[in-house]
Amino acid sequence: MHESCGIFGVYAPSEDVARLTFFALFALQHRGQESAGIATTDGKKLRVYANMGLVSQVFSEDSLSQLTGDIAIGHNRYSTRGSSRIANTQPILVGKGSSTMAIAHNGNIINAEHLYEELSEQGYVFHTSTDTEVIANLILSSPEKDWLNKIRYAMHRLQGAYSLTIMTNHALYGVRDPFGVRPLCLGAIDGGYVIASESCALDHIGASFTREIEPGEIVSITDNGIDSYPGEGSKRGLCIFEYIYFARPDSVINGRLLYPARQAMGEGLAEEYPVDADLVMGIPDSATAAGIGYSHRSEIPLGEGLLKNRYVGRTFIEPDQRIRDLGVKLKFNPLPQMLNGKRLVVVDDSIVRGTTTPQVVKLLRRAGTKEVHMRICAPPIRYPCFFGVDMATRRELIAAQKTVPEIRDFIGADSLGYLSVDGLIKAVALPKDIFCMACFTGDYPIPVQLEMDKLALEAMSVD
Ligand code: SF4
Repeated sequence: MHESCGIFGVYAPSEDVARLTFFALFALQHRGQESAGIATTDGKKLRVYANMGLVSQVFSEDSLSQLTGDIAIGHNRYSTRGSSRIANTQPILVGKGSSTMAIAHNGNIINAEHLYEELSEQGYVFHTSTDTEVIANLILSSPEKDWLNKIRYAMHRLQGAYSLTIMTNHALYGVRDPFGVRPLCLGAIDGGYVIASESCALDHIGASFTREIEPGEIVSITDNGIDSYPGEGSKRGLCIFEYIYFARPDSVINGRLLYPARQAMGEGLAEEYPVDADLVMGIPDSATAAGIGYSHRSEIPLGEGLLKNRYVGRTFIEPDQRIRDLGVKLKFNPLPQMLNGKRLVVVDDSIVRGTTTPQVVKLLRRAGTKEVHMRICAPPIRYPCFFGVDMATRRELIAAQKTVPEIRDFIGADSLGYLSVDGLIKAVALPKDIFCMACFTGDYPIPVQLEMDKLALEAMSVD
């Protein structure tokens, strides 16, 4: 399962803004490994440099030195809408002369196709297949005169999830959709301001955390300082997967550090699904903290049974069939001496399609594990995500097709326990009504009827 993107913005006239953006994107690499880009402005001209690959592969001293200016925005991409190709890298530059802007987007626009058709009829030409360009052209198409009201106009028309950084020649904007599906926070750095998907990016560049940008809010930063324009509406829908898996465990979202939240998920699993076992392990790295929590609450010793190759990112070099057959072995290597003859509790973040988990169980059994008891932090995922998480269609979701005992047999485990929705909320320790949990419950915070109708039609044509 993949999140869609990491975004960043900085307004700091006395700083090397491109370099700051590079290191912030480096800290946000976990949110997207397909492409990276930075745009800057010196008040006269916007420049952008973007390419396919990891942040460290895309930029060099030479490319950074070309990106001069006082304001910058940056983007790490994992494609959800729009295919993986260089034209779809971000930030995207649109407009002409004083109406030029650069935009970076994290999320997914549900009514993008409808808006695309409408804007095309008005004569807007699209150069990418992303919904980000739809947002950008919608802003440009606004009859309003100033950027702030142009953005407001677009927000009234957009449906879906969007956290944005937008840059013009003289201003930086941070924008979050009215439900706040994806996170966005504000910080301060010597003589300036920063905006980032996660607080860990602020820590890495020596910026201090100021606050979350609220759902529906626009923050505008110019040489007059910072202004905030709050949104309307009271319904909230922060993606709970930020707490389970997407965000880095050293990030703080809504005042809650993620590491202890993940530990508490493991503790909750130990309370809901106790078992006699010799060893507990969390699948590295996403379930390491939850594994510690399970061990702590169950008093079963914690150990490491799988080592992860941490340098496996997205690669554009296709493995040959022999290597492909090794499956998860590319990513994990078991430690037979630790596992031989043991009754093992394995804590993982989630099961989506159920393609990886059977391979992990097989790997552990081949290494001599006597019993494998899977414990999963995310409740069963029965509904697809329409808000930018590249998950699966409903037909592909294993929990939409099988019961828990059937999934246990399918993955080859001795027992299987999913954390309950209430157990998850207890672990996160924040009010339930601020979250989107639609992939567990089917209760979407934003109307998704159009997309649901399309899926139903797809299903009918396949069945
Ligand atoms: S449907 Fe699930 S993955 Fe998508 S935003 Fe909601 S909680 Fe997150």
